[in-house]
Order: sequence, then C-alpha cells, then structure tokens
Amino acid sequence: TVKEQLRNDYLCYNASISKEFEQMLSIDSELRKALKYNQLELHYQPQKSIHTGKIVGLEALIRWNHPEKGRISPATFIPVAEKNGQIFEIGDWVIREACRQNKQWQEEGYPAVIVGVNLSALQFLQKDLVHRVKQILVETGLDPMYLELEITESMAMTNEEYIIQTLNELRNLGVHVSIDDFGTGYSSLKYLSRFPVSKLKIDKVFISENQEQNQAIVKSIIHMSHSLNMKVIAEGVETAEQWDFLKNEKCDEIQGYFYSKPLPPEELITVFENKPIH
Ligand code: C2E
Ligand code: MG
Ligand code: MG
Ligand code: MG
Repeated sequence: TVKEQLRNDYLCYNASISKEFEQMLSIDSELRKALKYNQLELHYQPQKSIHTGKIVGLEALIRWNHPEKGRISPATFIPVAEKNGQIFEIGDWVIREACRQNKQWQEEGYPAVIVGVNLSALQFLQKDLVHRVKQILVETGLDPMYLELEITESMAMTNEEYIIQTLNELRNLGVHVSIDDFGTGYSSLKYLSRFPVSKLKIDKVFISENQEQNQAIVKSIIHMSHSLNMKVIAEGVETAEQWDFLKNEKCDEIQGYFYSKPLPPEELITVFENKPIH
C-alpha cells in the first residue's frame, strides 16, 4: 500500500542519514590518527605550458590512504576537516610538505617549477595566514616565486577589502595566487579586476563537454584573463581534441589526464626526466 511504501521510504531515508552521520563521526576521529601517524600524502599533477611544451608547475593534491578503508577522496574528508577545525593543521602540513618537496627537487637538480597548493576558505581567512606562509618559506628555504596558492571564487564574496589586503600582502611576499575552479562560483567581474591574482584556472566542467556554449565560455575566460594581465590554465584536459582547441585559443597552460594524472613523488620525477611529448 501507499502507506507502507511511505513508511518504508522514511525508514530508508532515516537510515541513510544516520549512516552519513556515522561516517562523518568516524572520519573525524580517524583523521586525527591520520595526522598523528603520517597517513596523509601529497600527489603532484604536472601543469604544462602550451607555448613551450614544458612542465611549468605542479599541483599538490592531498591523498589519504586509510589502512582499512583504502583511499578516501579529499572531496569527502576536506569538508569534514573544515567543519571540525582540523583544516588548519592539515592545511599547514600541506603547505609545508609541498614547499619542502619542491625545494628538495630543486636541490636534486630537477627543473625549477611552481608548486600549487589548494587553500580552504577558512585557511585564507586566518588572521595570520601571510605570517605562517612566510615562516614556512623561511623554514623550507623555498624561493617564494615557486609557490602558488589556489583560492576559490566563493571566498571572494566575504569581505572584499580584507581579501584585497591579504592578496597584496601575499604578492609582496613574492608568492603567486590563482583562482581555482573559475567559472563555477559567484565572483563578480568587478572584484576580479581589483584582485591582484596571477592566474585563472578554468574549471574542468567547461573543458569536459565540448559543447558550443562551453567553448564560447572558455574562449571568453581566456581573453578576459589576458586583458587583465593574468595567465590562464585549463583543468581536466583529457583529449587531444581539447588540447588542440585550447592551443588554438592561446590558453597558456593545461593540466589533466591527457598529459598526466596526479602522481606520487617517486613517479613524478620520471615525468620530469622524460622529454615532453607535445
Ligand atoms: P581541484 O583543486 O580543482 O583539483 C583538481 C581535481 O581534478 C583533482 O581531484 C584532480 O585529481 C582532478 N583531475 C585532474 N585532471 C583531471 C582530468 O583530466 N579529468 C578529471 N575528471 N579530473 C581531473 P582530487 O585530487 O580528487 O581533488 C578534489 C578537490 O579536493 C580539489 O579540486 C580541491 O578542491 C580539494 N583538495 C585536494 N587537495 C587539497 C588540499 O591539500 N587542501 C584543500 N583545502 N583542498 C584540497
Ligand atoms: Mg586546485
Ligand atoms: Mg578546488
Ligand atoms: Mg579546480
């Protein structure tokens, strides 16, 4: 009957909510252990210049390999860490580890490239962010010009003057700032022209479907970036067709499975050593 069906739906719904809740709680306590026992790692995805075909940057992406549950996606655990406050400790670790690794590669003689680190909005709004970044750079010895911080459009909405001040301080420190997942948030063009950022990262949703509308959006973002004196990189490039389109449109850089997936450090160096294909 309808009534039984409704009751059943309700029970299922309830069960799925508490399952989600349980999962959150367990991530919470497991994440504490992960931090303590060094179960977090960074993988690095190369970013290629379309103009020169060379690797110019690496995006550091956090990985959690849970001893029993296997790989847990950052899309799952970063939001939990943002809710419970662990994002600050994790975020500091990510910046420090990325800088340390990049400096080590430079000392080993690999070509000097920029390492990009994702910042959570909460981290960006930390009062002492600039000071912390500075300290990490001093500690690891990495030249600031080889660090890029990726922020998202959403945080731009909060407090315009504060954001601009922080971005200026970061620029004075010598690090780069890029806007990640560009085109999916709510940033207004008025803000964008006032933000001292060096690069826009076109979100992969506009790249993955080669529809006319998406191509039109990609073209406009590329032109807009260049008129604002910013560089532009396309994320999620998976095919030669997408590469050709972006090259034609004078996009500066690409990142995506077409060239390479994010790789653990020991595999990443093999990409460094190989001659670029394109
Ligand atoms: P994001 O910063 O936009 O990173 C790009 C995501 O796209 C990564 O997913 C990457 O593996 C994936 N990707 C790269 N190339 C391709 C492609 O050609 N096709 C497809 N379909 N996907 C591609 P990942 O590593 O799962 O990370 C997801 C998100 O989690 C990131 O999106 C970022 O927002 C967040 N995240 C990752 N690491 C960190 C971190 O250390 N701190 C913070 N706060 N967030 C992080
Ligand atoms: Mg990113
Ligand atoms: Mg992102
Ligand atoms: Mg992105």
